[in-house]
Amino acid sequence: MAQTRTEHDFLVVGAGSAGSVLTRRLLDQGYSVQVLEAGPPDDDARVHSPQGWPALLGSALDWAAVSVPQRHAGGRTLAWPRGKVLGGSSSLNGMIYVRGHRSDYDGWAADGCPGWDWDSVLPLFKRSEDHVDGAGAWHGAGGPLPVSRITEPHPTAAAFVEAAAGLGHPVTEDFNGARMTGVGFNHVTVRGGLRMSAWQSFVAPVLGNPGLTVTTGARVHRVLLEKGRAVGVEYAADGRLHRARAAREVLLCGGVLGSPQTLLHSGIGPADALGAVGVETVVDLPGVGANLHDHLLVSNVYEATGPLPAGTANLLEAQLFASSDARLPGPDLQPLFMHLVYPAESYPVPEHGYTIAPGLVRPRSRGTLRPASADPEAAPLIDPNVLDDPYDLEALVDAVELSREIGGQRAFDVWRKAEVAPGPKARTRDDLRAFVRRAVATYHHQVGTCRMGRGAAAVVDPSLRVYGVDGLRVADASVMPSVPSGNTNAPTIMVGEKAAEMVLADAG
Ligand SMILES: Cc1cc2nc3c(=O)[nH]c(=O)nc-3n(C[C@H](O)[C@H](O)[C@H](O)COP(=O)(O)OP(=O)(O)OC[C@H]3O[C@@H](n4cnc5c(N)ncnc54)[C@H](O)[C@@H]3O)c2cc1C
Repeated sequence: MAQTRTEHDFLVVGAGSAGSVLTRRLLDQGYSVQVLEAGPPDDDARVHSPQGWPALLGSALDWAAVSVPQRHAGGRTLAWPRGKVLGGSSSLNGMIYVRGHRSDYDGWAADGCPGWDWDSVLPLFKRSEDHVDGAGAWHGAGGPLPVSRITEPHPTAAAFVEAAAGLGHPVTEDFNGARMTGVGFNHVTVRGGLRMSAWQSFVAPVLGNPGLTVTTGARVHRVLLEKGRAVGVEYAADGRLHRARAAREVLLCGGVLGSPQTLLHSGIGPADALGAVGVETVVDLPGVGANLHDHLLVSNVYEATGPLPAGTANLLEAQLFASSDARLPGPDLQPLFMHLVYPAESYPVPEHGYTIAPGLVRPRSRGTLRPASADPEAAPLIDPNVLDDPYDLEALVDAVELSREIGGQRAFDVWRKAEVAPGPKARTRDDLRAFVRRAVATYHHQVGTCRMGRGAAAVVDPSLRVYGVDGLRVADASVMPSVPSGNTNAPTIMVGEKAAEMVLADAG
């Protein structure tokens, strides 16, 4: 799609979960917006089918990032899918709609981010939403983002709920309602049998707005700075460099990998890391690329007695939120049920099967993203430093044990042929520690590389303005000081809503 104006009020870099929200809210108030997205339009049918996501991993619509070897995980590198398409990661994610626990946001507020406490952000979650149940204490109606329930649960997902309930876990009708802890069926960003990505929900309905310019295939290299102010960006498209200018603000929405990378190649970041690759430091901001963290996932894989029925929803219909320690303010374990084989690395892959994937959602390990070279298109050095904190390993082992207990219940007897990962030879807690190190993977919920807050570790202030530069904000999952204890699409959409509110307030 071609550029039609030389200057817009706002530039939005990255058309993902947060960028789509910002774009819509700014257009609705009459501002002009140019969206610069590295990926293509979302016209691949696999994007729109709720069951298409496994085929998109590793496809041309995936940045397919890879970590550096992980010293606490047997020296393995970890594959990190990230959406490179209109809608960003919301175009290839699992569509689960979970906001997290109120203590996550109250924690942000206590950690130097006033205005981001749960009571303040709940209305923003609701503002986005068009929930199938209608408006109420916990949900909104009439917003751009459809949220629906699983109406015809897959029989194995139903077995998962029955098995966990049989072990005494409370059944939760709504993980976003009064009680997050418990087992239940997910709510999903699906309508009419189609994925509703942030792009489809927020921007596709207003594509005819004359203030909107969408430039796909545009890889932003750096922010253009004049006298300490962001005035535009330089980007590569069609094999050459271009410039786009912003009359008001540049809004970086490139996600947990893209936004810090753009800052680093603009000379905004830790002076030592920039100097090491020959990028001149404009603002010495040590927090850029620091505080990288992620939810972790392992796969307990079961061989099934035969082929499973196809199912009608997103392949990820049910999950459990539980705590490894009753003193925690909210759940830290999130076993997720999938009626497909989601392989555990280096373990057998049965032809027919299902997976109970033990997840850790209050990780304590922290890592870094650093530039690998002065080339803005070179993949960065991604080091999540997984399992560095001993708590993460022990809590994941707890989650594996919990998932195993569920998988062994009678509700699964008709489906279960054999447990293939961790497998019958894994008996002791030490065996399970070894399993976790061999098979730990991403839960796809990376955050934190442009941390919001106050003090030396922060990159943006609580209004998401980059320290040391005027006219430049970051709004995406990278600003989260700590990852919420649920899936991160809804929280990132909330960040987009709050960013829009603050940008519009400042725009007068
Ligand atoms: C496989 C997978 C499954 C997931 N499942 C779920 C789930 O079921 N539920 C859930 O809540 N969350 C899920 N998530 C996580 C969730 O989707 C993300 O946390 C969220 O989408 C992040 O939003 P964002 O706006 O920060 O970044 P993104 O949505 O990733 O958007 C960033 C955009 O910026 C573009 N970009 C980056 N750099 C540049 C550049 N230099 N120039 C131009 N454009 C650029 C990218 O191409 C991308 O379109 C999943 C994620 C993945 C990858």
